[in-house]
Amino acid sequence: MTAEVPRDHRLYLSPPDIGPEEINAVTRALESGWVAPLGPEVDAFEREIAAFAQTAHAVALSSGTAALHLGLMAIGVKAGDEVIVPTMTFGATAFSVTYLGAQPVFMDIEEESWNLHPDLLEQELADRARSGRLPAAVISVDLFGTPCNYELIVDITTEFGVPLLCDAAESLGAMFEGRPVGGFGRASVFSFNGNKIMTTSGGGMLVTNDKDFADRIRYWSTQSRESLPWYEHRDIGFNYRMSNVLAALGRAQLSRLPTMIARRHAAREQYRERLGQIPGVQVMGDPRWGQSNAWLTCIRFDSKIHPGAASAVRTDLDANNIEGRPVWKPMHQQPVFSGADSVLIGMADRIFDEGLCLPSGSAMSHHDVLQVCDIVESALDK
Ligand SMILES: *Cc1c(COP(=O)(O)O)cnc(C)c1O
Repeated sequence: MTAEVPRDHRLYLSPPDIGPEEINAVTRALESGWVAPLGPEVDAFEREIAAFAQTAHAVALSSGTAALHLGLMAIGVKAGDEVIVPTMTFGATAFSVTYLGAQPVFMDIEEESWNLHPDLLEQELADRARSGRLPAAVISVDLFGTPCNYELIVDITTEFGVPLLCDAAESLGAMFEGRPVGGFGRASVFSFNGNKIMTTSGGGMLVTNDKDFADRIRYWSTQSRESLPWYEHRDIGFNYRMSNVLAALGRAQLSRLPTMIARRHAAREQYRERLGQIPGVQVMGDPRWGQSNAWLTCIRFDSKIHPGAASAVRTDLDANNIEGRPVWKPMHQQPVFSGADSVLIGMADRIFDEGLCLPSGSAMSHHDVLQVCDIVESALDK
C-alpha cells in the first residue's frame, strides 16, 4: 500500500500531548490565585522531578537553556575558558557556553549512541593535562533520549578533575544501568519545551545532589535577591524562574510520563519491525548500557546502499503532510561556530548525512506509524 492521499492534518515530529489532566491542572493553578512566578505548584513540581530523577535537589527554571547557563556559571566557567561539547547536539548546548564568554570545543560522537565519544574525550583530556590546558567543564548530551555511557564519561572526567554538566534536555525518563538520568556529574538539565518528551509549553529544570549548587542556581534565577524587605543586590541576577501555572501543567505531564514513554517505545518497536528488516536501514534502539526514553525514533540509511535516502525520504514525507527532520546539524558545521576548535573523526558528519528523525509523538496512532513506514519503503524502492 502506498499513501497517495495527503493527510488532512499534518503529522508532526513530536507535538505536545495534552488532555483533561493538563487542562484541570492549569485551571486549578489559575483558580488558586498563584499566577505569579513561583508558588506551591513550583515547589511540588521540583519535589516530584527530584524524586523521579532520584536526585536530592531540583530547581525549576524558565528553559533548559537557562538551566545550562546557570549550571555552567555555578561550575565556575568564566570568560576565556574552554568547555568540551559534543558536536552533534542542539545549538543551545553550545550557546550556553558563549553566554559566559567561554568557548566550546566540539568533540565527535560514537556510533552506538551518537553521544560524546569516550575514547576521544580521554585522549583529549590526557593531551590537555600534559600541556596544562584542561577545559573548565565537559557537557555531555543524551541525544534524542539515548543515555550516554555515563560510567565511562563520569570516570574520565573524574580522573582529570574536570566538572561534568549533563545536558539531559532530551532524555528525562531514560536509564543508565537501571539508574535514571539526572544523577550523574555535578548537575543535569531537563527541558520542557513544546516538543520534548513532556512539556510545560516552555520550561526547564536543573537537578543536582549538591545543596550549595542548587541554592546558588535558585538565588541567581530570582534576580539575585537577598532576603531583605527591599531589593538588595550583591550579584547580577537573572529572571529565569518557572511560573506557577506552568509548573501545574508540568505536574500533570509528569504523572503521565511513564505512559507517554511506553507509547513512544511502542511506536519505535513498530518502526523497527517494519523498517529494521530492510538491508542498509537501521532503526536506532537502546544502547547496551541502558534504555532511552524513545523521545525521537531515528533511522539511519547506509549511504553506500541508499545514497541520499535521508533527504529523499524526508521530501516524500513532507509531500504527504508528515514532518520528518534531519538529525541535529553538527555544531562544527554551523556558520556561527566556524572558528571553533574541534576534535573530529567524521562520525557526526556521516550521521548528519545518513540520519533522519521520524514522527514519534506519544499520541500517534498505529495507523500513523504504518503510513510513515509505507512512505519510507516506497521512497527506497524508487
Ligand atoms: C531542547 C534542548 C535544549 C534547550 O532547552 P530549552 O528548554 O528549549 O531551552 C538544550 N539542549 C538540548 C540537547 C536540547 O534538545
